[in-house]
Amino acid sequence: MPHEPAAFDPERFRREARAVVDWIADYWSSVAARPVQSQADPGWVRSQLPTHAPESPEPLEAVLADLDRVILPGLTHWQHPGFFGYFPASTSGPSILGELLSAGLGVQGMLWATSPACTELETLVLDWLRELLGLPDRFASSGAGGGVIQDSASSGVLCALVAARERATGFPHATQRPQPDTRPDPRALVAYASTATHSSVEKGLGIAGIGRDRLRRIPTDAAEAMDPTALATAMEADVRAGLVPFFVAATVGTTACGGVDPVPQLADVAGRHRAWLHVDAAWAGAAALCPELRGPLVAGADRADSWGFNPHKWMLVNFDCHALWVADRGPLVQALSTQPHYLRNAASESGAVIDYRDWQVPLGRRFRALKLWMTLRMIGAEELRRRIREHVRWAGEFAGWLAADPRFELVTPPSLSLVCFALRAGDGPTAALLDRVNARGRVFLSPARVAGRLALRLAIGGTLTGRDDVAAAWGELSEPA
Ligand code: PLP
Repeated sequence: MPHEPAAFDPERFRREARAVVDWIADYWSSVAARPVQSQADPGWVRSQLPTHAPESPEPLEAVLADLDRVILPGLTHWQHPGFFGYFPASTSGPSILGELLSAGLGVQGMLWATSPACTELETLVLDWLRELLGLPDRFASSGAGGGVIQDSASSGVLCALVAARERATGFPHATQRPQPDTRPDPRALVAYASTATHSSVEKGLGIAGIGRDRLRRIPTDAAEAMDPTALATAMEADVRAGLVPFFVAATVGTTACGGVDPVPQLADVAGRHRAWLHVDAAWAGAAALCPELRGPLVAGADRADSWGFNPHKWMLVNFDCHALWVADRGPLVQALSTQPHYLRNAASESGAVIDYRDWQVPLGRRFRALKLWMTLRMIGAEELRRRIREHVRWAGEFAGWLAADPRFELVTPPSLSLVCFALRAGDGPTAALLDRVNARGRVFLSPARVAGRLALRLAIGGTLTGRDDVAAAWGELSEPA
């Protein structure tokens, strides 16, 4: 067999991997001293690198030197302790080691048969996680449902949408079709989400062939919670017009200000029309680890068809990792299953195993469960809870500092570890404050439009963020211009 040392020499890998791990550890130790946001002008990164790919191998040292010289200045440092913009992409040592092991093993778990441990560990850790979050038994793999890891919340809602489409249209791709054919026309389907719902629902409707224009945007209250009466009215009007309400997307923790939809009431309305109820708890879901925060986060989950959140946001699992549970895996598998001859095997045909290729858009899949497993095992649920509680407490303190300063006001009450606020002087001064603070590079916040006005978002949750960094953010914001 030809031997290619650079590609697959265990001794060389051992040496170089150590150097890369050292480089990462040095990065974590020094990231706080860098400006949070990249200062690079468009095109600068590319201008610093060769136009053509190398013909001959280069040493690792040369690559690491370019990482220092070009790549780091071209990054916004999501792991910087002063990163408060968007939602966090919190990472951790154990999770990164899980990612490394996944790459090192290099297995592809599209079928149970292509690596049984890849499938069975995923099923197990999602059962563990379901229990830790206090999600209902209907999502357990021992019943009709179960969990799957997707790359992102956007993929999670897309899978829920195609499963719901399949269910609503009488499984047109199933071999046994109803006789006579009474299936609703897919062109009559309508989905519902609030005006504060993440754009992934609209995008998913486009990808699923239902059409972005088939999304009804339901109004919310001032804290971005969907109005269930308005939802009921919209669905009834569509039924009268001969349309078929098939999907309701509820949000637990809206992107702008962390609003929480009244899922139990939405479940009542969705249930009347037999519409699929999906709960998107992308960011806030992690807080359900804490029993005292859980109540509103999992309320109504016992009547949801699917429920998903991102351990890669606020649960110390490095990007990407979205956990999606379905109450009935039948429609999902019906929608996404393919049976090409070259993938046929006895285990799949026995029906006794899960083949996760039928629970996602791509065929192939990597061993993502390892990083979730290692995070849960090496950090432990109690430490994950402790960190979330700390972040929520700091957000409360920050909101208290704001409330005591007459120049500022809260735009909505703090939601878990997210604070949404503005200057009383209005949008112009608020925008100028954001620009000024972000330009200094010590902290980074992001803007949002909430209730028709500009708000600044302080989202606490970074792995390296401490209370001092939250206090520093307040120092930067409250300093006179
Ligand atoms: N849903 C909500 C509520 C979000 O806040 C986000 C992103 O922040 C998403 C979905 C999309 O997440 P992803 O990047 O995993 O697709």
